[in-house]
Amino acid sequence: MKNRILVTGGAGFIGSHLCERLLNEGNEVICMDNYFTGAKSNVVHLMNNPYFELIRHDVTHPYFVEVDQIYNLACPASPVHYQYNSIKTIKTSVMGAINMLGLAKRIKARVLQASTSEVYGDPLVHPQKEDYWGNVNPIGIRSCYDEGKRCAESLFVNYHEQNNVDIRIIRIFNTYGPRMNPNDGRVVSNFIVQALKGEDITIFGDGKQTRSFQYVDDLVEGMIRMMNTEDFIGPVNIGNPNEFTMLELANAVIELTNSQSKIVYLPLPADDPLQRQPDISLAKEKLNNWEPNIQLKEGLTKTIEYFDNLLKSNNT
Ligand code: NAD
Ligand code: UDP
Repeated sequence: MKNRILVTGGAGFIGSHLCERLLNEGNEVICMDNYFTGAKSNVVHLMNNPYFELIRHDVTHPYFVEVDQIYNLACPASPVHYQYNSIKTIKTSVMGAINMLGLAKRIKARVLQASTSEVYGDPLVHPQKEDYWGNVNPIGIRSCYDEGKRCAESLFVNYHEQNNVDIRIIRIFNTYGPRMNPNDGRVVSNFIVQALKGEDITIFGDGKQTRSFQYVDDLVEGMIRMMNTEDFIGPVNIGNPNEFTMLELANAVIELTNSQSKIVYLPLPADDPLQRQPDISLAKEKLNNWEPNIQLKEGLTKTIEYFDNLLKSNNT
């Protein structure tokens, strides 16, 4: 057995892929989740592995377990879900970080925080490097998530400075892939589900805003490399620098699904960032030349296949 590892938010989209990969590498995995946006179905295929444990627990409450490493992913990630109960979102980020840092301190574990490109807000610097401090509206509708994650980063570096806790921070850029929640309102899942159902594709605003989409397997590789890198705590950007407008994304999804769906334009939500693209030179330098391998069309094809099967099984 290599390590015993706790993954908070492990039944979510990214968490489920991380748990699977860690188990495949011979680790023992404890997956903790309150199932707010995640689901048992995301990890049910891991249940017959005797080295996998699934725990229903809310990260805002203290939790004690003896592990070597902690990946802290618990937090809703889509704007629809993190705005549903904004106070709970802040508590999850802040109290969750305090609880996991307190645990790491007590048991001397290494703890990695799943931070986000949202710490850069609506960035005035492009592409975003780790030394950019960001442009976040502290009282806007995204602030529960953005400021929660910024506070968590502050807690991580302060526990490191003051209490010598062994921390790692990664800033994740828009990530997609199988097991995204079809109802969570994120753009990739929305467009694919709409295209497969022949419904209108909903572009918010004029569709010229950009995002850089990373396939989940590339992220998991970067996360694990960061956790196991010595003498570098981050923060480090983990994302795919290939940047697309939402209109380009919609057209790619229509083409790959052969859909008859039409594009419709809806109002842009408040504080929606205009552009986002990671500078990944630090990740390349520190994480043994890490870079994404799966580009948009290949990743979309795999994701479309997942949603196609999901929709068909829901209809039967
Ligand atoms: P997700 O919503 O699928 O996963 C989050 C998981 O955390 C879910 O299983 C949910 O039930 C669980 N959770 C939420 N609140 C909890 C609580 N209080 N206690 C215990 N569990 C709780 O989202 P995801 O895309 O898999 O995101 C995982 C992490 O990565 C999040 O921390 C998110 O902020 C971060 N991240 C994701 C992206 C992305 O593009 N997917 C980008 C940047 C950062
Ligand atoms: N978006 C869109 N149509 C949708 C869902 C989202 O045009 O049905 C846009 C959204 O306004 C944003 C971009 O797609 O500009 C990415 O949105 P998402 O919620 O996936 O991620 P985030 O804004 O947090 O990066």
